[in-house]
Amino acid sequence: MVVTRFAPSPTGFLHIGGLRTALFNYLWARRNGGEFKLRIEDTDQSRNSAEATKAILEAFDWVGLYYDGEPVYQSDRFDLYKSYILKLLDEGKAYYCYMSKEELDKLREEQMAKKERPRYDGRYRDFTGTPPKGVEPVVRIKAPLEGEIVFEDGIKGTITIKADEVDDFIIARSDGTPTYNFVVAIDDALMGMTDVIRGDDHLYNTPKQIIVYEALGFELPRFYHVPMILGEGGKKLSKRDGAADVMDYKRAGYLPEALLNFLVRLGWSHGDQEIFSMEEMLEHFDPTDINASASQYNPDKLLWLNAHY
Ligand code: GLU
Repeated sequence: MVVTRFAPSPTGFLHIGGLRTALFNYLWARRNGGEFKLRIEDTDQSRNSAEATKAILEAFDWVGLYYDGEPVYQSDRFDLYKSYILKLLDEGKAYYCYMSKEELDKLREEQMAKKERPRYDGRYRDFTGTPPKGVEPVVRIKAPLEGEIVFEDGIKGTITIKADEVDDFIIARSDGTPTYNFVVAIDDALMGMTDVIRGDDHLYNTPKQIIVYEALGFELPRFYHVPMILGEGGKKLSKRDGAADVMDYKRAGYLPEALLNFLVRLGWSHGDQEIFSMEEMLEHFDPTDINASASQYNPDKLLWLNAHY
């Protein structure tokens, strides 16, 4: 059984790069008779909004990618995340760190002056003394001290990170809220993900997430990190390149089928075929065939495709 997901952070509209990621996940699950789930990553109360969530769901509705079950909202799951933080503390796999922000800044400055990589030095890892007064601690997870973190990426090949490149990172902030990499790993494991297809801006979050999986004894999914879509001048695709917001395409009169066809072809190919019905996409799509290099946004291609539907 293949289970995939799309996990947008509701900070604004649905970006076409996000829709392409969703489409890849959708196709891979449906091709295998599996499940495609939607998770709204709304733990950052300062950047997320209900309006943005609504806009993403509307855009999804318009393109017709249906998902299984109800969307999962991370903001509903704080108690669950907390239980896992307590479990790791209990098992000695995580610890309270009482270093203040000022101390951390000072340490970083010293390290930079010595031309060292700024990093947390693990000073509370084995701390058993009396905690300093007046500091609300964060919780850090114990990252491996030696060796390597290695994983196979279905698009990029073998990724190897030296253990000393990953510090004991924060899993709960001093106000008790869990951090991003921690909750993503928990949710992917509990939601039964077998395949995680996402933007390659998350490639270097993966080693951290693997540390969480391993600490909690969860099975790893397969990972595929998709290179981004480039706009004009090789820059990240933005509003300036025409439209980055999926709903702008609706407003401009494009057909959702043409937009999906356009997106599947950004980074994926099957011979030199340009026009794909949904059935054909479902017949041929395989995430391991996604290009390892970035793809170029070409609005003329979209116009052309739209005229063929
Ligand atoms: N919420 C993340 C984003 O919108 C995606 C996380 C993931 O796919 O693992 O970039």
